[in-house]
Parts: sequence; C-alpha cells; structure tokens
Amino acid sequence: MSVRPILTWPDARLEAVCAPVEAITPDVRELAEDMLETMYAAPGRGLAAPQVGELVRLFVMDTTWKEGTRSPVVCINPDVIERSEEMACADEGCLSIPGVMAAVERPTSVRMVWTDLDGLVHDQWLTGFAAICAQHELDHLDGIVTLDRVDAAQRDAILAAYAGEA
Ligand code: ZN
Repeated sequence: MSVRPILTWPDARLEAVCAPVEAITPDVRELAEDMLETMYAAPGRGLAAPQVGELVRLFVMDTTWKEGTRSPVVCINPDVIERSEEMACADEGCLSIPGVMAAVERPTSVRMVWTDLDGLVHDQWLTGFAAICAQHELDHLDGIVTLDRVDAAQRDAILAAYAGEA
C-alpha cells in the first residue's frame, strides 16, 4: 500500500464524470487500499478515486476512525436510489480544496447501493454524517465539488479565501 498524491482544485480531473468499474481486478484492489491509506494519512474521512487521478467510480470512507474506531468502507459503482425529503445544511471540507469549508445543503438521508471489494452488493440507508460524506464523495465521481453546490455569494467568498491560502 502507498499514499498517493491528492489532486487539488482546480484540476481538470476533478471535473470529469468517472467511468464505471468494470471488474474488481488486482489494480482496483490496490487502488482502494492506497486510497484508504491516503485518506487516513491526509487525514480525512472520505476520498474519491478522481482525487488521486483515477477516473473510475470508486470512493472510500470511514466516518468513525477519528473517534477511535476504524470502519473502512469501499464503495464501487455507488448510486443513490432514494433521498429523504428532509434537507439540512452542514459545513463540508474537501481534501482537494484544502483550508476551506463550504456550507452545503443536502438530503439528510440517502439510500445508496454499491458493490464492495468482495463483489457483494450493499443496499443501505445512510444517515447523519455518513449520508453527508457519501453524497460528497459520490459528487466527486460526477465531477462535482462543494463549490458547485453553493450559491454565487458563498462561492465568491470561498474562492477569495482559497486564493489567500494558495
Ligand atoms: Zn471532496
């Protein structure tokens, strides 16, 4: 396993719509393991394949490790098939937009279907932080970042702060 460099916005690869994973090959397993290691090292709670330059529909997340319990999840070809009507706004960071937070409104619960590294299909309602994290990472697979989910005023403020960081 190895830590891979994380691309930062604006990198054109972060705007790509990623291709489905066709088969769980050794390369896919290695990518997922590297992504988990990269996520923990960053440190972050989620990481999508395009953030390390691989334009395939795969992300990893672990919503509990910072509290002391590791629960790594590898999501291959994830898809949200139902959303709660209830929405909530939460501050989201992104490893590809370091140093800034964006207040993004999303459904509070989503029903997501994905395949794991063993080829098992999961169909699960996610709530709380897991719902936020999964939607954030799934957005990356469609070339969407938090900046695309906020209004123009917030986007301008974020970009000004981001330019100040750079
Ligand atoms: Zn992100």
